[in-house]
Amino acid sequence: MPLLTCIHHVQWVVPIEGKKHFCQYCKTEVTKKDVYPKFDDLGEDYKAAWDRHEKGETTAPAAR
Ligand SMILES: [Zn+2]
Repeated sequence: MPLLTCIHHVQWVVPIEGKKHFCQYCKTEVTKKDVYPKFDDLGEDYKAAWDRHEKGETTAPAAR
């Protein structure tokens, strides 16, 4: 059963095509402000990787 309210934990969030991110748990597109823990509290490496993806500097795997 899916949760009614998903926190979009970063463990479930993956980069997808179109410079976007996707929560595999609830199958929803998410943005920086949607994820848990708060984006600002994530590690520098994670934030840098996210920003690189948003700028289209990475090759994202296709969404499943
Ligand atoms: Zn989610």
